[in-house]
Amino acid sequence: MTVEDGTANTPVRRTTSLLINVSTLLQESIGSLRRYEVDNAQGTGLNAEVSGSLRLLRTDQSVLATASLITVISDICGGCLQDVELPLEVSFDEEFWPSLDLISGAPVEPPPERVGFSVIDGQIDLSEAVRQYVEMGRPMSPRCEEECPGLDTRSSNEQPIDDRWSALAALRIESEGD
Ligand SMILES: [Zn+2]
Repeated sequence: MTVEDGTANTPVRRTTSLLINVSTLLQESIGSLRRYEVDNAQGTGLNAEVSGSLRLLRTDQSVLATASLITVISDICGGCLQDVELPLEVSFDEEFWPSLDLISGAPVEPPPERVGFSVIDGQIDLSEAVRQYVEMGRPMSPRCEEECPGLDTRSSNEQPIDDRWSALAALRIESEGD
């Protein structure tokens, strides 16, 4: 029997938190994997819950998080100015770096070219990564629906002044001038 994909045998764990303990993973060999189903997780600084899939890979120096998530953003429709809630997909690969050497336990000076986040107290918190990708993925001009009807002028408070009223106003000024 051959295993074509090493991830196929990795059990999927369910998490309802974006704060995940990786201390055991960091003690395992390079290439070790964790797979998670993220189920309506809340995170620091996030306005809505997050769901989807997450894979954590132990690299030689870090934990590589590969996330494919979906959340909901609140915005204002650029057509009708109504409040809207829109689904938003958030996918990323981000590295999380331990602040201690994995073997000696000594503090690690992170490599200067290091990009990503930190492992803090044996945990990674995906909240900040999700928050950043949500901001990047936020549509420039959101719409409540594909065919937004636009502003309904009958109910708008910013109606242009009726021509007849401005004519009457002009007439009034004229008669006052007498
Ligand atoms: Zn709209």
